[in-house]
Amino acid sequence: MIKFTTLAELRAGIATERAKGKKIGFVPTMGALHEGHIHLGTTAKKSCDSMIYSIFVNPLQFAPHEDFGRYPRTLDADIARLEAAGMTMVYIPPVEEIYPEDFRTLIHVDGISGPLEGEFRPAFFDGVATVVAKLLLQVLPDQAYFGEKDYQQLQVIKRLAGDLNLPMEIIGVPTVRDDNGLALSSRNAYLSPEQYQVACTLNRTLAGMAELARQGQSVAQIEAMGEKALLDAGFTKVDYCTLRDAGTLQSPQTGRPQRVLAAAWLGTTRLIDNLAV
Ligand code: AMP
Repeated sequence: MIKFTTLAELRAGIATERAKGKKIGFVPTMGALHEGHIHLGTTAKKSCDSMIYSIFVNPLQFAPHEDFGRYPRTLDADIARLEAAGMTMVYIPPVEEIYPEDFRTLIHVDGISGPLEGEFRPAFFDGVATVVAKLLLQVLPDQAYFGEKDYQQLQVIKRLAGDLNLPMEIIGVPTVRDDNGLALSSRNAYLSPEQYQVACTLNRTLAGMAELARQGQSVAQIEAMGEKALLDAGFTKVDYCTLRDAGTLQSPQTGRPQRVLAAAWLGTTRLIDNLAV
């Protein structure tokens, strides 16, 4: 495994791959890697010759009251996982490499950043857009892979790459779930066994909502049913549980693709998930 910690090392490593004519695939992550993260890389490997992951817990996307301090950090296990999956390069910059003391630029993607996660985590997407823009410009891959697990984030990044004419393809990959349907997430590590059982109802609830949407039930009924099901199952708070237009994430329009999305709390752990209708 070739490890880069500085931008200079990264650029030299990428230049070497370029000189060999390799097509480069990139997977940005915050580490605590699971099969969902690995699936992004194995999907990328089907069309790229050379793979690079980044592992960087981005302070800019956490509000002061959020879980930056306790976010799981499992670097040795992450590198072992990447090696086992045949990945060859990883970029692990320290915070000062990405945000030197005089760093002052923020990227704001208007519109798609506004609803849902944007309402409940107001600084989140500016932090994500800024770090992803930096990482994409640093690596300059041919393709960058992101999970549909973070569906709104994927739409924000597609908009960002399009608006800034970033010279790479942004590719979305379906969510990897465990046998009980729970979307794999680094934050699942926070769940007690009892909370895990409740967490597994999130995907089932979304599947039920999607089915009601296909049957033509009203949006209000679908959303009320979804929220009640989550609270009855044991979620302690529901930030949103909603049917939206899959492109704009505003209210659904007949004849256009739709998506059900939810964010809900189990104690101090916040989980998100979504499904196509
Ligand atoms: P994170 O480390 O949580 O920021 O995630 C890094 C990338 O992995 C993002 O593009 C996520 O959407 C993606 N990802 C996270 N969980 C999953 C999953 N269960 N299935 C597929 N992709 C995922």
